[in-house]
Amino acid sequence: MRLKVVLLGEGRVGKTSILLRYVRDEFAEKQQSTLQASYLDKRISVGATNAQLSVWDTAGQERFHALGPIYYRDADGALLVYDITDAESFSKVQKWIKELRKIVGTEITIVIAGNKVDLERNRQVDEAQVFEYCKSVGAKHFYTSAKQNVGLSECFNDLAKNMVEKK
Ligand code: GDP
Ligand code: MG
Repeated sequence: MRLKVVLLGEGRVGKTSILLRYVRDEFAEKQQSTLQASYLDKRISVGATNAQLSVWDTAGQERFHALGPIYYRDADGALLVYDITDAESFSKVQKWIKELRKIVGTEITIVIAGNKVDLERNRQVDEAQVFEYCKSVGAKHFYTSAKQNVGLSECFNDLAKNMVEKK
């Protein structure tokens, strides 16, 4: 079973870093904003089901708020990323969810990741507000660090489980 996941969120929140850590176990402090490919594949098992996740990353065009319909097409799930040290990146999550649902529909599985949790001391986003918001949109929330490899398998496992159930 092939499942398409799109990464969404403001520039610099760590989308590319999350993908490279999750699929290749790599991390770079000076992460380039683009990947060679538009997606990377990762095998994952959900109970007895073997799935192949195709995780799509932007080529930096989120900075211009211009992700075309091809990016979203046939997506089964979305990982919406914000940076816990950047309040603005959290306030934009709603905008991304609205756009996603407008194009793909409301059935799509959404998981929200508060990335850079290794920088907890610089936190700018209020946790109670995050939990309330995630509940209101019916999305699960995970804290992640691409840098320290925290929370990523939990995040993608949960996405995959929900996507398999809906397929
Ligand atoms: P994107 O624009 O959303 O794809 O973000 P990038 O993956 O390019 O990351 C932007 C910057 O944040 C880079 O300098 C990364 O090294 C850094 N970064 C990404 N994830 C983390 C993390 O979990 N912790 C810390 N401390 N830095 C991170
Ligand atoms: Mg990027």
